[in-house]
Amino acid sequence: MALAETGKTVPKATTAIKVDQVGYPADGPKVALVSVAAGGAAKLFELRQSSNDAVVWKGELAAPVADADTGDQVQAADFSDFHRVGTYYIAVPGVGRSWDFALGKNVFERAYYMALRGFYGQRCGTAVDMGPEFPGYSHPACHLHGEFHASSGKSGPADNAGGWHDAGDYGRYVVNSGISTGTLLWAWEIYGKKLKSINLKIPESGNGTPDILNEARWNLEWMLKMQDTDGGVWHKQTSERFDAFEQPQDDRLISEVIGTGSAPYKSTCATADLGAVAAIAARAYKPFDAKFAAKALEAARQAFAWTEKNPNVIFRNPKGVSTGEYGDSNCSDERLWAAAELYRTTGEKAYGDYFLANYAAFLPILDNPPAAGWSDVAPMGLWTYALAHGKTDRAAVDAIKRRTVAAAQAVVTRTRAAGYVNSMKTTDYVWGSNGVAAGYGMYLLIANQFAPNHEFADTARDNLHYILGRNAFSLSWVTQVGENPYMHPHHRPSGSSKLPAPWPGLMSGGPNRGRQDAVLVKLPKDTPPAKSYVDELGSYASNEIAINWQAALVFLMAGELR
Ligand SMILES: [Zn+2]
Repeated sequence: MALAETGKTVPKATTAIKVDQVGYPADGPKVALVSVAAGGAAKLFELRQSSNDAVVWKGELAAPVADADTGDQVQAADFSDFHRVGTYYIAVPGVGRSWDFALGKNVFERAYYMALRGFYGQRCGTAVDMGPEFPGYSHPACHLHGEFHASSGKSGPADNAGGWHDAGDYGRYVVNSGISTGTLLWAWEIYGKKLKSINLKIPESGNGTPDILNEARWNLEWMLKMQDTDGGVWHKQTSERFDAFEQPQDDRLISEVIGTGSAPYKSTCATADLGAVAAIAARAYKPFDAKFAAKALEAARQAFAWTEKNPNVIFRNPKGVSTGEYGDSNCSDERLWAAAELYRTTGEKAYGDYFLANYAAFLPILDNPPAAGWSDVAPMGLWTYALAHGKTDRAAVDAIKRRTVAAAQAVVTRTRAAGYVNSMKTTDYVWGSNGVAAGYGMYLLIANQFAPNHEFADTARDNLHYILGRNAFSLSWVTQVGENPYMHPHHRPSGSSKLPAPWPGLMSGGPNRGRQDAVLVKLPKDTPPAKSYVDELGSYASNEIAINWQAALVFLMAGELR
């Protein structure tokens, strides 16, 4: 029996039938998948209404497709021509029944709320309470006291409370905050009309600012505190080593502002990421808080100026520090992103000139979707330039759009041919592969901005379906979403509590053929890439949550809202 979000028990489904456990837009394509055991394919499937088991649609299963990355033979059950809103399941005679799912007009609205609210659950430096919907999911204020580490070039207390816990640990990292916060602000800029009235039930709700901006600001304020008076930005704020699996308020290790260990102490990648994100913030918050927007713009300008004097100061963990490094040996893509966002915000020639002098070398990156990641932000720089209104260089914009749209088209073709109807290549099953799947969704949705095409939105949604249960495990990879969600994230607040389910709305990293943890290593040697996943707390390489892939999920869901 599975524990649904409401706590009710539901009839046992078979994992051989895979559906998006949230559901499908009633008016869009609808495909469930059936993995076939050796010995013969099933022929027919039924769509049944959950309330009374009535058969509302019958269809034939497609011929099996061999899916190389799972080793499965997969049959498609296409019921796209059925349009009635409701709650259903798929039944296959001789195989069993699926989990329940919905057909709806705006079917992902609740999942979007859960995923974006997941960031609120990651807040540091404040008491958090998920409210009466999720009783017991709360903690007192944590990590209120900060200090400058010897590697930062300063000493003494640091007033740096705030931000989001990065992942399963309680560290806060500017570089990973950059792509995460930037992606959320982009979701606002592109889909704001759909998002502005969605109430997240967070402390700021009802203050006149849309809640997605309220939530992003919680992390932005911390990022701004990480900027030194010379404009440079320290790389991270963590303890020297990871703490035990304990509640955030019980972590007694000192939260330290950590630098490079020698002058100029701040890192170029962190500084440029802050510059990019603060430049977006200057646009996004202007209608709601002009003073904050102006402060963000000034911070962005100072950050960019610092990177001109310090073009490639690399961060490596100083001696005695073993928390996440987010090391990146090349900060030129971060600088491109900062220049592009500053240009889009200000229209000032110096930023535009920097972009035009540097962008061309990054264009080939667009040929390999999903392209963007915490250490590869060049696509963000290229896309924001192409999305900017006003004075942009025609040839640059054309090249960016052309390459993005062409690559998106190839992704559509590949996805349609794949057994599990996702965009993943064998090499995509890396640490955080579910973030890669969400990243494909984001790529396709950006292409859809450049050249509107329902195939791009549909294929983006196919990747969302994969994350929400249409995968080899028949598992929803978002906590407390769907009838059969994963249960054991590598996440300290969840893993150290006695609550019946993990903290809500958080996406697992997903299958990882690199298998860099003791749990994955124990899998049989010939385990296929897309099955290199274990729903155990100890599998940090396949089952950790993290704000960067969470942000890509939120963007993808925002794009699929109506
Ligand atoms: Zn904290």
